[in-house]
Amino acid sequence: MDDNARISPEPVVVPREGHSISRKDLSPGTLKTLYRLKDAGYVACVAGGGVRDLLVGRKPKDFDVATDAHPEQVRRLFRNSRLIGRRFRLVHALFGDEIIEISTFRGSHDGDDQGNRFIEKNEHGQLIRDNKYGTPGEDALRRDFTCNSLFYNIADFSIIDYTGGLKDIEARCIRSIGDPAARIEEDPVRMIRAVRFAGTLGFTIEPELDDAIRTHASSIQKASAPRMFEECKKLFLCGHALDVYRGLVDVGLFRWIFPELTMAMERDPTHRTWLEKVMGQFDRWRAHGASVSAELMFALLFGKLHEDMMQSRIERGMAPFPAAEQAVTDHLVRLSQTVFIPKAIVRHIAHLMALQTRMEKPNRKYANKIVRRQSFHDALIYFKLRKRHEGCDADLVAWWEEVAGES
Ligand code: ATP
Ligand code: MG
Repeated sequence: MDDNARISPEPVVVPREGHSISRKDLSPGTLKTLYRLKDAGYVACVAGGGVRDLLVGRKPKDFDVATDAHPEQVRRLFRNSRLIGRRFRLVHALFGDEIIEISTFRGSHDGDDQGNRFIEKNEHGQLIRDNKYGTPGEDALRRDFTCNSLFYNIADFSIIDYTGGLKDIEARCIRSIGDPAARIEEDPVRMIRAVRFAGTLGFTIEPELDDAIRTHASSIQKASAPRMFEECKKLFLCGHALDVYRGLVDVGLFRWIFPELTMAMERDPTHRTWLEKVMGQFDRWRAHGASVSAELMFALLFGKLHEDMMQSRIERGMAPFPAAEQAVTDHLVRLSQTVFIPKAIVRHIAHLMALQTRMEKPNRKYANKIVRRQSFHDALIYFKLRKRHEGCDADLVAWWEEVAGES
């Protein structure tokens, strides 16, 4: 069957007066992109998360544009743009410091993907290349959840809904597009995306999807480890880390992503208390507009676990500094099977943890050297939280803050 003969579902089209999204809600770069595409005769829509966030009254992080223009055609329209991606080919258009992601409507990959050079699956049936173009309807159906599949069409300011996303947004529910188990098999990362969206939007996961996630939770281990690193940052830096964390534990995903942390939590409830504190802290930082580095995020997430691992090495006779470095590095190398944390970040976390042992015993002679270390800034934040958690030694924290202030 040729692409054009594919039958697209009839969408629900809500005209401008029937919804709340206005052009004023879009960023200047997004508007320019939409109009340049439209004026060149192409279909141009805001797609996905931007439409969803505006409908629920949240400020979107960014806007993605979807069009029927092919990447090369898009490239020609935007002088300041570049082609990116392999799994999905996209164009990034630059407007000052704003980057707009422009993707071409993608086709369905049912049936005829055998030997298709635009689509490639690995031995687990996961998509590793997905560059077949299609109609807006096909594009909507291959997105993950109904709430993420809406289009805002610049031609008439309407919202186009192929999947029932509008109803699901109203009902505040995350629903898989198509069979949840099949969509999870295609891309296990969708499971943690479902939990993240439920947590950030305050939505519930629809029962059939929830069941499928619980059944297939272990398959998260098949997801690409570098991609999991990116997803983990989003999980805990989204501003709703505590809800997301509880959601992950509830559906059984957390243990497959962080097995050693889970074992520690089951062994000793103080690990759970620490984790909840840390998650709450991430959310407060976000609420105050403070940015948190990946280094600090992972250092705090694994903090108590790493401390235990350090301690057992020290008890076996190792010096504190190398014990810290080895404990952190060993754990994060084991974790890299599921979540690949880049080496430079591992090194930073190891240093930061090793500094904790030095910071326990303040010494004027070495203090100035320590505060100049690259990892000291994060080490001090970690130290402060740990001391507050333990409910002691505010003086020691003040001492280090003073030295840091002087240098
Ligand atoms: P966020 O606010 O986290 O950016 P988002 O919905 O914009 O949320 P992105 O990861 O930026 O999420 O992806 C943009 C859109 O691409 C999604 O809204 C969804 O329609 C589609 N998408 C992203 N990841 C997947 C996936 N794994 N499977 C199917 N569709 C996806
Ligand atoms: Mg997005």
